[in-house]
Amino acid sequence: MTLTHANFQAIAAKLIPNGRAYIDGSSCDAVDGDKFETINPATGQVLAEVSHCKSADVDRAVAAARRVFNDGTWSRAEPEHRKEVLLKVATLVREHTTELAVLESLDTGKTITDCLHEIGTEVPRFFQWYAELADKTFGKIAPTGLGALALITYEPAGIAAGVLPWNFPLLMAAWKIAPALAVGCSAVIKPAEQTPLTAIRLAQLMEEAGVPPGVINVIPGYGHTAGQAIGLHNDIDTLSFTGSTEVGRMFLHYSGDSNLKGVGLEMGGKSPFIVLDDAPITDDLIEHATMSAFWNGGQNCSANMRQLIAAPLVEEFTARVCERVKAFRLGDPLDPSTDIGSMISKDHKEMVMCYIQSGVDQGARKIMGGSSDLPGFFIEPTVFQGVTPDMQIAREEIFGPVLGIMPVGSDAEALAIASDTEYGLHATVFTRDIDRALHMARSLPCGTVSVNGFSEGDIKTPFGGYKMSGSLARDNGTEALAQYMQTKTIWITT
Ligand code: NAP
Ligand code: MG
Repeated sequence: MTLTHANFQAIAAKLIPNGRAYIDGSSCDAVDGDKFETINPATGQVLAEVSHCKSADVDRAVAAARRVFNDGTWSRAEPEHRKEVLLKVATLVREHTTELAVLESLDTGKTITDCLHEIGTEVPRFFQWYAELADKTFGKIAPTGLGALALITYEPAGIAAGVLPWNFPLLMAAWKIAPALAVGCSAVIKPAEQTPLTAIRLAQLMEEAGVPPGVINVIPGYGHTAGQAIGLHNDIDTLSFTGSTEVGRMFLHYSGDSNLKGVGLEMGGKSPFIVLDDAPITDDLIEHATMSAFWNGGQNCSANMRQLIAAPLVEEFTARVCERVKAFRLGDPLDPSTDIGSMISKDHKEMVMCYIQSGVDQGARKIMGGSSDLPGFFIEPTVFQGVTPDMQIAREEIFGPVLGIMPVGSDAEALAIASDTEYGLHATVFTRDIDRALHMARSLPCGTVSVNGFSEGDIKTPFGGYKMSGSLARDNGTEALAQYMQTKTIWITT
């Protein structure tokens, strides 16, 4: 049955969100009883009170995670057992998709359509894919003479922390939890303060699936409280962070100031969308250009906000982008016909509006968009023409719906402008010529290049950034497992 706006509103009205921390198999308050509120940014209304965890709570979670890691219930279980339990998590997420998607939409202001896709399709796929890897990840034998047998083996790293952003809350939780648990780690997860509710609910479903107490812990809190306590904890072995470059840098300091835990960083971007002069401006290209910029209201680390268009095509491209953008519907995120929901918060909306003003002040031409009159924190999709590479809106990550169009005179100029950034997460290239496509793909200094379509890849392909977009760590694919495993050599003299 296809659910309607009224159906989703009715489901939302009945939900009773749980904002309590989940530690050692139980829902609990913070040790000091402190709480904060999470709101629905589309209405400004309070959704739930949330446990405000601090270092005492992180200590409790890490102690539980260590106890169960050491007793081997999960870490040394048969891989087939971990597989079966994680497959059951995937099944339970599928069965609870509507509830989880409505909860996510309320907590983030994301559209219900996107939430249903992320939670009904992507999140269970992550649990399923890593579950299937649990009993298919082999070690190696090194070539030696007959005097030795050298085994290269992989062991779970121990306690894995995940510190998450607010833009894809449950999906990012799955990105970290699924590979960590598949290899046998115990996990301590800190969701973003704005969006704690679905990760907390997921932990309960994981318990129902048979994940033992202590293996999954969810610690809601602020960055400077729970986040910092996790970063500085001396008994966390590996930490995977997704968020801003500024905070990623802090996690490297925290590691240096504590136990030198491994730190994997997935951070910001300022990704280009490049159209070479042989690319026909089709409906498909315009769909990719606009979705790459405005999907999730532009609150996406790999959003393609610098659109570098071959000069002869700029006029047609700009006109067609504007025509398409006019059809985007801003509105109630629970309405399935809504294309763009709310910004995550009032502060974030204000910051994005400052960037829009800076574009105007620095001489770019705003041809559509700006603040919306809707209640909540909405911004209309905004398009700038005449953007030059030195402008603030061309250089800094805005994390909102602000697309800048720049004409380029050659492939070399497109490459030079695209590469002139401190970030290196993603790029899209449109061309009919495979040689030009491959030249661009091989030359662009970023973790993912998509050709003739905006794509971040899928679960099978590693995702991460060059330069200040990331560390060498990757999420997704078999590559993600490296964040959660130690490599051990066993050299047997024979
Ligand atoms: P953020 O401010 O860096 O926050 C990310 C996480 O770090 C949150 O859980 C946050 O807690 C925590 N944190 C903040 N300050 C901290 C501190 N002093 N010590 C320890 N932890 C701290 O980023 P965001 O605003 O949530 O997300 C937006 C950013 O994430 C963008 O820059 C975007 O590009 C990036 N992002 C990257 C990827 C990727 O895969 N590369 C994916 C999605 C988003 P609070 O919630 O309390 O602030
Ligand atoms: Mg919220």
